[in-house]
Amino acid sequence: MFDFDFTPAAIAGAIIGAIVGGGAVLTVAYKIRGNTPCPNCGEKLPALRLPRNARQFMWGGSSCPKCGQEFDRFGEGRKT
Ligand SMILES: [Zn+2]
Repeated sequence: MFDFDFTPAAIAGAIIGAIVGGGAVLTVAYKIRGNTPCPNCGEKLPALRLPRNARQFMWGGSSCPKCGQEFDRFGEGRKT
């Protein structure tokens, strides 16, 4: 009566595929953010940003932990 085509192997494959695929996306996203250098001093910026003010909280962007250069979420430096 349960004549579905979903064998346990197929289900396991789908779950593993979802985990691997999701992990790959997260890894790529982490690398993109983690490899963004400071536009001023070239310091590698941490992947985890902590906004220092309301604008950073609203629009993204951060400040370099080394030289204090502010930049937007695309890594463009900007005047304070
Ligand atoms: Zn810097």
